[in-house]
Amino acid sequence: MTDDNSESRARSASYHNPDRLLRRMSSMHRALTDSQVVVAVRVRPLNDTEKEAESQLCTTIVGPGTIKITPSDGVGSQEAREFNVDAVVHSDAPQETIFKLTAKSILSKVFAGYNGCIFAYGQTGSGKTYSMIGGSDPSTEGVIPRTCRELFSKIESETDHMYVVKGQFLEIYQEKIKDLLAPDPAAWDSRAAAFGDAAPRSGGGSGENLVIRHDKSPGGKGIYVTGVREHILRDTSDVLDMLAKGTQRRVVGSTNMNATSSRSHAVLSLTISCQNADDVEGFTRTVSKLHLVDLAGSERAKATGATGARLREGASINKSLAALGNVVNSLTSKTKSHTPYRDSKLTRLLQDSLGGNAYTLMICCVSPAEMNSAETMSSLRFAERTKKIKNCARVNRDPKLARIAELTEENQRFKKKIKELERELEETQNKLSDLTRKPSIREKSTSVSPETTTDLIATKKGGCCVIS
Ligand code: ADP
Ligand code: MG
Repeated sequence: MTDDNSESRARSASYHNPDRLLRRMSSMHRALTDSQVVVAVRVRPLNDTEKEAESQLCTTIVGPGTIKITPSDGVGSQEAREFNVDAVVHSDAPQETIFKLTAKSILSKVFAGYNGCIFAYGQTGSGKTYSMIGGSDPSTEGVIPRTCRELFSKIESETDHMYVVKGQFLEIYQEKIKDLLAPDPAAWDSRAAAFGDAAPRSGGGSGENLVIRHDKSPGGKGIYVTGVREHILRDTSDVLDMLAKGTQRRVVGSTNMNATSSRSHAVLSLTISCQNADDVEGFTRTVSKLHLVDLAGSERAKATGATGARLREGASINKSLAALGNVVNSLTSKTKSHTPYRDSKLTRLLQDSLGGNAYTLMICCVSPAEMNSAETMSSLRFAERTKKIKNCARVNRDPKLARIAELTEENQRFKKKIKELERELEETQNKLSDLTRKPSIREKSTSVSPETTTDLIATKKGGCCVIS
């Protein structure tokens, strides 16, 4: 197994080769454009617990999009299995590589007016929050801050389009939606105290237990949450402040699997409105939504060592993840069935991203340790299934405004054509009057009267003018 691992390291190191990385990026972009949900698997390094337990490695990267898992004897009757996804990234890969493989393509779609979604999935402690949010050091920044930087750097360099970016940051905790940026914190301290956790600095108050609605009108808002505050974001620092503030308020608790385990699903949503720079009325406006999601991890009560309130929390997390699994199963099963989006807040909120109007990418985070092979196997099964989901993304434009934009464009085309025709007409008239006013020397010598000029021109056109 150690040999396998060195082989996989050699392969993954190939992502350090810019050409290979570019090829993988463009193959993921193609898959995305084909409306598939695109899946990248990220294997994290062994953690201290796994090292202390001297757990062997059970994952091998056998190709740029293939990972093999060889479970330990202790894991029932499970046999070694290979899983095919769009990209597999080894623990050596820096945050920059994950960003390039995942967010770049999604961002290009968002700039073209489509909705986008990136979500991290995996067992508790597998590296979801690390991948999505990451550390404070620039080299360890995760997908979300990097995506926001790229978004604003592109906006700042654009002169042909005008943009307005708005953001909201929600968490789903025990089936309740909460605005992580709501003012006036109140209820958190008591809740945090119940778990013996250090209290978050602020939170609670208004913006709790929000409701999801669906605006189905053409050009409408789609799935949205009522009562949540949307913040205008002018630059990268605005969005990084928002991320830091919301992350601080998120419910975090300690389990055996992860000392700072996220106990809630966090959804950062950006709304990007774009219109042509010369379009004052906004007829060319497109509005794209980008969801960046850090899910709470699936967990086995035995592995996390959770009891009491923490155990109930875990049960609620597992329930919403089970609902996510059911939605994925329904969307990928051969027989058409009702998709149970309404079974959890998470699936309802991400309805557009799962089989709907969005380009979606999942980062499936896994542990390489044999002692976690059962969870890794289950995450990879989920990843393989999710990859089969077909979405149907379309450019988000109000159809009435789009029609006005179309007619305005047509009108401008016609106006241009009329101008051209007018110019041609004027030129012809000028030529004509030149001919009538300035007879040629020969014509002069024959003293042709002005009245007969028209006849002469007609004869000239016929090509047999004989003047004597
Ligand atoms: P999750 O959100 O899936 O529960 P975390 O992202 O919080 O897990 O990761 C658990 C721990 O493992 C954190 O201390 C994190 O820094 C570390 N970790 C996860 N993935 C990586 C990685 N690819 N490289 C380095 N450290 C990682
Ligand atoms: Mg987490």
